[in-house]
Amino acid sequence: MAKPESNWRELATCQFIDPEMFFPLKGGSTEAPKRVCNTMCDVREQCLEAAMREEYGMCKTLRFGIRGGLVPDSRYALAVERGEFVGKSEWEIHGEAA
Ligand code: SF4
Repeated sequence: MAKPESNWRELATCQFIDPEMFFPLKGGSTEAPKRVCNTMCDVREQCLEAAMREEYGMCKTLRFGIRGGLVPDSRYALAVERGEFVGKSEWEIHGEAA
């Protein structure tokens, strides 16, 4: 049964883990935090939907961290799949030289 929206953060498994794990440096491994989200957290679904709401309309480059078991690019892809409005970064509009 889904947890009420108001208290799901109190049940987040990541609150007991070093937050830096969920914000790896560019090129760093995302396997460990994704495993925590996908196998150890009872509120993954609520977390992912909160991230999707908070990031609504954002381009890829403004999305950070592993949330709800997904990396930023995967959340962006999910937004596109859902038909949500998604912004484009300067890089996506003008290319690498911008
Ligand atoms: S799904 Fe992952 S990021 Fe979200 S609350 Fe659970 S452990 Fe934290």
